Amino acid sequence: MADIIRLLPDHVANQIAAGEVVQRPASVVKELLENAIDAKATEIKLIVKEAGKTLIHVIDNGFGMSETDARLSFERHATSKIQAAEDLFNLNTKGFRGEALASIAAIAHVELQTKKEADELGTRIKIEGSKLITQEVITTPTGTSIAVKNLFYNIPARRNFLKSDAVELRHIIDEFQRVALAHPDIGFVLYHNGNELFNLPKSNYRQRIVNILGGKTNEKLVPIQEDTDIVKISGFVGKPEFAKKSRNEQFFFVNNRFIKSPYLHHAINAAFEGLLKEKMQPSYFIYLEVHPETIDINIHPTKTEIKFDDEHSLYAMLRATVKHSLGQFNIAPVLDFDRDANLDTPYDYKNKQAAVPNIQVDRSFNPFADEKKTAGNTTTQPRYTNYKKESTEGWESLYVGLESKSNSNQFSTENIEFESEEMTSSLFTNEEPRETLTYQLHRKYIVSSIKSGIVIIDQHRAHQRVLYEQLLRNITVSEAVSQQLLFPVTFTFSTSEIALLKEVKESLENIGFMFSNITNDTIELSGIPSNISESELQIIIEQMLNDFQGEIPDTGFSQTDVLVKSLAKSMAIRTGKKLEVEEQESLVNNLFACKEPNVSPFNRTIFITLSVDDLDKKFI
Ligand code: ADP
Ligand code: MG
Repeated sequence: MADIIRLLPDHVANQIAAGEVVQRPASVVKELLENAIDAKATEIKLIVKEAGKTLIHVIDNGFGMSETDARLSFERHATSKIQAAEDLFNLNTKGFRGEALASIAAIAHVELQTKKEADELGTRIKIEGSKLITQEVITTPTGTSIAVKNLFYNIPARRNFLKSDAVELRHIIDEFQRVALAHPDIGFVLYHNGNELFNLPKSNYRQRIVNILGGKTNEKLVPIQEDTDIVKISGFVGKPEFAKKSRNEQFFFVNNRFIKSPYLHHAINAAFEGLLKEKMQPSYFIYLEVHPETIDINIHPTKTEIKFDDEHSLYAMLRATVKHSLGQFNIAPVLDFDRDANLDTPYDYKNKQAAVPNIQVDRSFNPFADEKKTAGNTTTQPRYTNYKKESTEGWESLYVGLESKSNSNQFSTENIEFESEEMTSSLFTNEEPRETLTYQLHRKYIVSSIKSGIVIIDQHRAHQRVLYEQLLRNITVSEAVSQQLLFPVTFTFSTSEIALLKEVKESLENIGFMFSNITNDTIELSGIPSNISESELQIIIEQMLNDFQGEIPDTGFSQTDVLVKSLAKSMAIRTGKKLEVEEQESLVNNLFACKEPNVSPFNRTIFITLSVDDLDKKFI
């Protein structure tokens, strides 16, 4: 039998390698930026079009390449950075595999222009799908310019697999920020579709962080510093009161390379113990310097994971250093960040006699007294109105979305049959006797009687479901009502958060948000959905960004879903909120008009039923 093993042609091997190196436009950005840094550039410009799908262009003022090197740089395993295997243990550069350029050139149209300082003339090379198209001598400034066009042009499957521009751009911004945070001594600029997204002048670490994350960042940074034989630690942690729910301000750099380390992350969290409220995340920008031979950066193909020789000591030192800084800056231990300063007793009052508070009690109140009467009562007056009325602000949300009854027949209420056969869809126009009895238990559950027994409903989850379906409907038919704000409100966000907001802008508009202006770091709203109050706006938007940052939704469909879930979660009435009877009934009615009244948008049980049979069994 004839031999069947053959060597793959180079361009095929390169394409296969490319699959590992280049997952998306952001991977190209990372490789090109790192090459520019290795070339000792002090100014690096990144120009991107259509989130890198049509163009990724990096221009640096580094040391450039000779004509021969320029040609060789596209060969696989061609690198100037290591010569012998031992060099691998003493790396001071970003690259060393010599596969990035070869891989990129295999799957895109690449144009390289480069010149060394000492040379008079430079080189231009065009390569398409590993094939050399032209090579010529040109005049060009010292440094290197690499333009990567039409990424994945020859691998349609990969190209189709790319996410929306907004998502791909976010990945690019993430990579750009990581590199820029690691190298404040280099000036960076990022353009996208002709707009300048970042312009970061050479500066120090602190200033670079502030330039990237926005104006207010400066006041929240606490410096950390420690020098030992095995590691030099520097950088900043965020003051606990500025902690966010998202993890997008957590950065570790080892020898100026961004890395991920759940283990070291844990060390920081341990240092913050007792200082943060539940689910809040500390911000940190931590720079570690270790001897290159004590780490192995080669264990992960995209090189963001790293192995330290002495992880345990590093953990202990990091935790101690952060703790020490927090203490030094008088931050620990303030446990109650929510405390209202107005409630603190002024010193003058300290020695005063306490007066007996004046309590007003409604002695005639008996929640069970008129239980029977109500059944025959023909007024719409709710029972228990002799309670002091609590603010019902924000409650319109329960009534919005209660459309004409004709709609409700498409929903099934399946096994729930109310005592009152009539499902009232609007409480205040209802002149019929109200027979559905509801009762709020522990400001958490709504108990309502149904034909077969009782139903116990979790009020928060029920409202989530109602809002979820209502918002989804609004997004698809865009019929939401918005309230015009008297004065537009402006919020400041980081560039990547703005990119994210732009991504979901259309959906937000359908729900009732009206954007009057969006800049690189602010949004201005002139209108908001009618069921959101201005005071909760900031929290709702932050929560939404937060939920988005947790996962990057792949498709438009799941994007909408994440958005709507997040809004439903933050807009829904909370456990602990007292509800008037009308509100309780409205919620119950709205819930059972939903398509899926059984589970919350997060798949949690909304209600349970107890049949009379069940009850009877308990009384045996
Ligand atoms: P690696 O960075 O792993 O060595 P690459 O494929 O990224 O491999 O680059 C191959 C070689 O091309 C590098 O080793 C370097 O000599 C040269 N090179 C790439 N980009 C630049 C640049 N911007 N300036 C100067 N030389 C560069
Ligand atoms: Mg490289």
